[in-house]
Amino acid sequence: MSRPGSDLITITARPDIVFVEGQGSWLIDESGKRYLDLVQGWAVNSLGHSPALLAQALASQASRLVNPSPAFHNRPMLDLARRLVELSCFDRVFLASSGAEANEGAVKLARRWGRRERGGAHGIISFEQGFHGRTLAMMSASGKPGWDSIYAPMPQGFAKARLDDIGSVERAITPDSVAVMIEFVQGEAGVNVADPGFVRELRALCTERQLLLIADEVQTGIGRCGHAFAYERYDVEPDLMTLAKGLGGGAPLSALLCKERFNCFEPGDQGGTFCGNPLMAAAGLAVVNEVCTPAFLAGVRQRGEQLARGLEAIARAHHLPGERGAGLLRALALPVPRADEVVEAARSLAPVGLLLNAPRPHLLRFMPALNVSAAELDEGLDLLRQALRQVLC
Ligand SMILES: *Cc1c(COP(=O)(O)O)cnc(C)c1O
Repeated sequence: MSRPGSDLITITARPDIVFVEGQGSWLIDESGKRYLDLVQGWAVNSLGHSPALLAQALASQASRLVNPSPAFHNRPMLDLARRLVELSCFDRVFLASSGAEANEGAVKLARRWGRRERGGAHGIISFEQGFHGRTLAMMSASGKPGWDSIYAPMPQGFAKARLDDIGSVERAITPDSVAVMIEFVQGEAGVNVADPGFVRELRALCTERQLLLIADEVQTGIGRCGHAFAYERYDVEPDLMTLAKGLGGGAPLSALLCKERFNCFEPGDQGGTFCGNPLMAAAGLAVVNEVCTPAFLAGVRQRGEQLARGLEAIARAHHLPGERGAGLLRALALPVPRADEVVEAARSLAPVGLLLNAPRPHLLRFMPALNVSAAELDEGLDLLRQALRQVLC
């Protein structure tokens, strides 16, 4: 048998495992081995693998109406938009399929507003190490080292500032600047949680200089950080916000939200074949209704505390630098650049494997299902200890 993937265009090194089934916090491969999954498709599967709620929403919508055309209203599209407006500080919603697509929409909307209200201002200030997606423009918006040259020439107009350094934002502002785009918790960069004082100063600065504050909540939104949206932790209101990952609970769905006064696309300015399709909107509605309740979110904060305490204890026992994060988006720092080895050791544990993610060479990231149980988290921490012992001792 050839190795799996020989017919795929190579984009990343995948292990020789083929997953065939998922249930809640567990994945099962073709050989029947079980893995406790603390990655969940990169913070995507809010309710774990194949939750009944999502399966039902998809199945019943699929047999009713899959695609009337993005040029018509459909009921799930309207209901999801209404629900997101009710839950947030925003007034309007545009639905799309991926985080990068929603972020592109945010940049377009900011530039549209800049043309109308700010004499053509168009520059976007984003942050070093930030991550906003993989389209050409979002690679420009991202602050990943090297991303400005792989596919050069790149779209222009994305200046960089440093997280938690308000002076660096002030210095990046020019008369052409129209918006600041930020992840309140930088996910791919290694779960860097923005300082509350910095975020409040940033909000004030944006208001004073007539810049839109765009919150990229693709990773942090829909309960991940213990609130429906991470901006609630900071007691500020962004002007635009994007959601994706956890919004569809595994279904490809994203959203751009804005306040009414930035609702300035003209017909034809923005769209997409799959934007607002009822199948994905029905999935999103089911996820949002389950996750964004006070009781469910309190559970996320509790499990987040449990994970934080467990990781702290491991850090003390293994003399590691420590843990950080918000809610169920957390990271454990290692003293040596061997996070990839820990990921591999954890996956190879037997009889039960553990799935982890290493966004940086010195860092492990944890993004369990938001409904992970206390017992599953304890088991995960136990498996993590075993993997760390193998690699670090
Ligand atoms: C994953 C991610 C994106 C990109 O989302 P895609 O669905 O992969 O396009 C954008 N911003 C943040 C903060 C992300 O974590």
